[in-house]
Amino acid sequence: MSSINNCEAHFDVLIVGAGMVGTAIACGLGSKGIRVALFDQSEPAPLPADSLPELRVSALSSASENILKNLGAWAHMETMRMTPYRRMAVWEKLHTPWGKEIASRANQVVFDAAEIGHEQLGYIVENRVTQLGLLAAAKACSEISLFCPVTIDSMQLSDEKPQVVLSDGRRFSGDLLIGADGANSKVRQSAGLGVEQRDYEQQCFVATVEISGGCQDVTWQAFTPTGPEAFLPLPDVNCKSYASIVWYHQPEKVQELLNLSGEAFLKVLSDTFPVELPEIRQVCERSAFPIARRHAHRYYQHGVVLAGDAAHTINPLAGQGVNLGFQDAAWLIEILINARQAKEDLGSQIVLQRYENARRKENALMMSVMDGFYHSFSNQSRPLQLLRNAGLTIAGKLSPAVNQVMKYAMGLSGKQPPLASESRHITYTPISDIRSPLR
Ligand SMILES: Cc1cc2nc3c(=O)[nH]c(=O)nc-3n(C[C@H](O)[C@H](O)[C@H](O)COP(=O)(O)OP(=O)(O)OC[C@H]3O[C@@H](n4cnc5c(N)ncnc54)[C@H](O)[C@@H]3O)c2cc1C
Repeated sequence: MSSINNCEAHFDVLIVGAGMVGTAIACGLGSKGIRVALFDQSEPAPLPADSLPELRVSALSSASENILKNLGAWAHMETMRMTPYRRMAVWEKLHTPWGKEIASRANQVVFDAAEIGHEQLGYIVENRVTQLGLLAAAKACSEISLFCPVTIDSMQLSDEKPQVVLSDGRRFSGDLLIGADGANSKVRQSAGLGVEQRDYEQQCFVATVEISGGCQDVTWQAFTPTGPEAFLPLPDVNCKSYASIVWYHQPEKVQELLNLSGEAFLKVLSDTFPVELPEIRQVCERSAFPIARRHAHRYYQHGVVLAGDAAHTINPLAGQGVNLGFQDAAWLIEILINARQAKEDLGSQIVLQRYENARRKENALMMSVMDGFYHSFSNQSRPLQLLRNAGLTIAGKLSPAVNQVMKYAMGLSGKQPPLASESRHITYTPISDIRSPLR
């Protein structure tokens, strides 16, 4: 990593947002000799080995694992901590017409990585571990200059070359500015790229709990009319075991869960979650997040492009948000490196259109699939409930169907960018071969 002290500097690419997606893009471009300036308003604090697991975790797919390995971040992340999960149990909680829960789990589907010859379905990783791993890789790259923490005073995005002006007066220009600044992206707003937003009627309640027994290798997720209830394994710390409770519900119920005393909350958990789960000993931390579907009207204009949550946010019920963001990152890296090799302007509309072609339909499809789950399971109509359960029960008995769903969720099906392949020796495909994965 290099440092800049002069008042004005030009880079090939400016990236606003050194979160998981922005830093991944910086690593991919920097490793191929593209000079990057990476800006963020805050830097994540280091994660001491004996600190409690963080509240914000993500389920990373095999495709994301490959991308992080190829970007040099995974090796740093492994020195911190992560939890592989080999199985995923999913079912719908059934209720009698008068609202009493039925104990039967006949409709449960268990996804097992061994069925498709894989060691794990994915990893539950604290977001801070992923971000710190990527930042460690970025700091090792001489082409990347990290400006963090800084305050961006203004961005000029209508000129031929985009510019970022910091509150201390430093001014930076680039051939391209990438907005990876999250769901409320200032880059998206400043560029006037527009966004379609729909808030879900549920919120996401998250708690870190201490459990008895060792680290688990299975995630549990029950669908209910008010939203899914999930139990995710976390790493052992100081010989104690932990799990993450992710519970979607109406905002009033979520507020109630936040207000309960620790003891009362434990009682609610034991009444709600399956008996075969490990005993929950104590609640370490809890919080709640509003959830919304957002999709930028356009991903780019001349000299500016969006990636990750800045371009789209989806219902997190199947844990796909940052996995889509890493796919954005991998395709954008691929397309920009090809453009550089072909001596094209990195900020030109023709180059950025290739990226939008590669990503928009795929992101929109995943959003629609998540909305399909959300609306279908929220619907309490009796015929629809019977149909869903028949579907789940039959699907659970059909291993080809289950295996296909597993491969899709792991990012092992469909057209993948080269960075998502297991090979560490990436050869970039010719521009003419880059198509939307759905075409
Ligand atoms: C409750 C919940 C659970 C989730 N679970 C999963 C899961 O299991 N699996 C999964 O794949 N996804 C999950 N997601 C989604 C996932 O967290 C996001 O998709 C991911 O964090 C997006 O990463 P990003 O880098 O695009 O944006 P962010 O993580 O939001 O990073 C944006 C960065 O930009 C910086 N920034 C913002 N504005 C400025 C500015 N003006 N100047 C400078 N810097 C700025 C921020 O400081 C931050 O570092 C979940 C989301 C929620 C809400």
